[in-house]
Amino acid sequence: MPSNTTKAARLRIVTSVPEPSQLDADEACEICYGTGMEIVPGKGARTCECRQRDSHSSFLNRVKLPKRYENCHFHNYKPQNPSQVAAFSKATTLTMEYPAIDQGLLFMGTVGVGKTHLAVSILKGLTERGFTCLFYEFGTLLKEIQDSYNPATKASELGVLAPVLNAEILVLDELGASKPTDWVRDTMAHIINSRYNDNKLTIFTTNYLDERKREKEETLEDRIGVRLRSRLFEMCRTVEMSGHDFRRSQNRER
Ligand code: ADP
Repeated sequence: MPSNTTKAARLRIVTSVPEPSQLDADEACEICYGTGMEIVPGKGARTCECRQRDSHSSFLNRVKLPKRYENCHFHNYKPQNPSQVAAFSKATTLTMEYPAIDQGLLFMGTVGVGKTHLAVSILKGLTERGFTCLFYEFGTLLKEIQDSYNPATKASELGVLAPVLNAEILVLDELGASKPTDWVRDTMAHIINSRYNDNKLTIFTTNYLDERKREKEETLEDRIGVRLRSRLFEMCRTVEMSGHDFRRSQNRER
């Protein structure tokens, strides 16, 4: 079995071929003069850095990945405990074995244990392998759908939902975070059930757990309802991650 480091190295995101629409902007490049190739004396030709830059921002736009996650990769994920080692391993395995897998992943754990970091790393790895992926924070998606009901906006509900339902691989971040009104639950059910029926891979993250650790603490089932929780058992392997908030530990070390 390959070591974690080897797997991470194999999944490191590389830049992709620029899209034709970028060519006009590239003409202004002082290094490659629009050719996309830079000649390095004594070494030969290599892709110009302008192409790498454009290709990176076009990747972020295409996948709809917020800029704050652009530096999340497998190679800079540092597992802090056995639950995080196991989560890393499941994430890399899925990334390498897709499409020969029949379930997505549901990363569960408290804030800052690296759930989104791993979900984004999967998305980057699968994009690198040529699959079409999309990232949405659940709250942002719900807001975009709600905004589409406003006649003043140009968006339509279908225009927002179609890419989410059709994406080959979808990361839905922070499931259960929005106040569970009837509308929120119906919308969640529509998205999750449609993807389930179409056999499409979905990766979820949630800060809610299955077991109540303290009285009054809400579980994922409390937030999304018993039927949807049950559906997720079918669609995804549950990956429980424990640990401290990584941001807080980094802050203390500084
Ligand atoms: P969660 O989704 O579990 O709330 P995030 O994945 O958003 O947590 O992590 C919070 C921040 O900490 C991010 O910037 C992420 O890159 C970083 N982070 C979390 N865990 C790790 C880790 N094990 N190794 C490296 N960075 C980490």
